[in-house]
Amino acid sequence: MKLLVNFSRKKGSEPLIAKAVKETGVLIMVDRAQIDPAGGQMLIDVPRESCRLVSDKMGELGADVRILEHAVSLDVSECVDCGACISVCPREVFTFDTEWRLSMKEDRCVLCGRCVPACPHRALSVLG
Ligand code: SF4
Ligand code: SF4
Repeated sequence: MKLLVNFSRKKGSEPLIAKAVKETGVLIMVDRAQIDPAGGQMLIDVPRESCRLVSDKMGELGADVRILEHAVSLDVSECVDCGACISVCPREVFTFDTEWRLSMKEDRCVLCGRCVPACPHRALSVLG
């Protein structure tokens, strides 16, 4: 399950991921991170059953955490199975099934956003 974590370094520099792993015992995968001297944003992946525990711990450590029920979302009523999203996605989220219908592995998404403008029918959105 994906968590979007925003944090500030203005009050000091806590080793956020290291502390959360140590204090919860949950292994955390960092999918994407943008960090500068003032703070940053990370997209992390944790087991679904542990997401509340990790979210609460990071909140205690001063981060603002959003649990993402969906990373990338597909509006199936708009999708025409053209496949344009397949080639632009760096994580192979999209494939065709045996009937040439678009299939998604949403848990692979790292919210890069490349697929959204690539879709000619505006069938894709990120963050939800
Ligand atoms: S946001 Fe990026 S990683 Fe996620 S499905 Fe779209 S292209 Fe793939
Ligand atoms: S680019 Fe849009 S319309 Fe084409 S397969 Fe992907 S989601 Fe469907």
